[in-house]
Amino acid sequence: MEDGKCFPGGILKVDSFINHQMDPMLMKSMAEEFARRFASAEITKIITIEASGIAPAIMLGYILQLPVVFVKKKTPKTMENMLTSQVYSFTKDRVYDVCLSSDFLSSEDKVLFIDDFLANGNAAKGVFGLIEQAGAHLVGAGFLIEKSFQNGGKMLRDMGVWVESLAIVDDLSDCKIVLR
Ligand code: 5GP
Repeated sequence: MEDGKCFPGGILKVDSFINHQMDPMLMKSMAEEFARRFASAEITKIITIEASGIAPAIMLGYILQLPVVFVKKKTPKTMENMLTSQVYSFTKDRVYDVCLSSDFLSSEDKVLFIDDFLANGNAAKGVFGLIEQAGAHLVGAGFLIEKSFQNGGKMLRDMGVWVESLAIVDDLSDCKIVLR
């Protein structure tokens, strides 16, 4: 409430503690909360997408002592056994390819997806496509911030995905942050 800044179009800027400058103590607390919420789940690997998902994902991986793999937003020439999927970016109004090497995700894996924001769920859907191609099992998805006035939360829950969001923003209109 104090440090988040509201921008037109339902954008919340949290650049002072998540998306630019990062607060490691808060990151650790958030990762501990994910660990508590997903305590009953069997997880073999954490998956996230660059760039802003990496910090919370690596904290959680450290706490759970699990490997962390991040999906890349640019397809490198040197990647072996590349899986690709497409993500629609609402903010940029274009589709882009995301990729992951199947060397780091197999049909044995039970994966938890972690990201900073859940808005329309497009990033999550793209990552789930890669998990499916690898034959891995999606256990659940954890977000630092969910914007409930966009469609992603409903879409993922309707798909049967176990979703945990640490902060839920119900409204950003009139540039006022309304937390649930
Ligand atoms: P989605 O794919 O769910 O529509 O959007 C998720 C991605 O878009 C997140 O990984 C995040 O990078 C970005 N994003 C969406 N909404 C916001 C927002 O309000 N603030 C910030 N900082 N990023 C957002």
